[in-house]
Amino acid sequence: MILDSLNLQDKVAIVTGCNTGLGQAMALGLAEAGCKVVGINRREPTETMEKMKAAGHQFLAVRADLSKQDDIPHIIEQTVSTFGRIDILVNNAGIIRREDALEFSEENWDDVMNVNSKTVFFMSQAVAKQFIAQGDGGKIINIASMLSFQGGIRVPSYTASKSAVMGITRAMANEWAKFNINVNAIAPGYMATNNTTALRADEERNSAILERIPAGRWGTSEDIAGPCVFLASKAADYINGYTIAVDGGWLAR
Ligand code: NAP
Repeated sequence: MILDSLNLQDKVAIVTGCNTGLGQAMALGLAEAGCKVVGINRREPTETMEKMKAAGHQFLAVRADLSKQDDIPHIIEQTVSTFGRIDILVNNAGIIRREDALEFSEENWDDVMNVNSKTVFFMSQAVAKQFIAQGDGGKIINIASMLSFQGGIRVPSYTASKSAVMGITRAMANEWAKFNINVNAIAPGYMATNNTTALRADEERNSAILERIPAGRWGTSEDIAGPCVFLASKAADYINGYTIAVDGGWLAR
């Protein structure tokens, strides 16, 4: 049955930055599809823990600061010692800094590049080593952006970091497909989360953005959950190195 290929029963999924927003929705979607989920957050993901518990899902919360890479071995160890293996990694944690390009500070450059690109690569590398040791492949899903395709305004380090995500998604897929590892990305369009509070509060930008989205609305966190489950599943085994836009048609304009 085709729907069986979407079943993720007993798979183990790591989702970074899942206390809120898109990460929370993807963690819940993966759990609903059958996964045991490991959530990586700087602080206790209280709301996500409550939602997981209420639905009877298995969820392990691990604390880590992904602005540096030192905690990565601990994340792998905790996951494997609790659930025995890793099948899926969703590199979702991300930050954005807004400042005119002429004034843009080195700190705003480095902070964003660290979380959004460098940690994404080294988390993927560590998990890929675990997949190879397990011997039966795995799925890596990176969260890219419209700014993997476009330039953006006042967010140069975000644009650089998300363009890098699309690039390293291809690069990792090229090297790891032979181990049955799929590395793909989801590029969300304009989604109503904390990340876009400032944009939505700016009336002029808000209406300019809405006017361009063929769907005529901001995306919701739940809009990302289905594509995430699909990419994590057997149904997507022959998709590799690709960045899928989930954008209400934004890029089609
Ligand atoms: P969000 O609500 O701001 O969530 C970002 C998540 O990343 C939070 O859980 C945050 O944790 C976590 N995070 C940030 N820095 C971290 C660090 N150093 N260590 C550990 N966790 C960290 O934003 P979102 O919209 O859901 O964003 C999720 C992803 O989608 C990001 O990669 C973002 O760039 C991308 N994206 C969003 C949109 C959009 O329109 N919303 C569009 C395209 C792409 P804290 O709560 O502790 O800060």
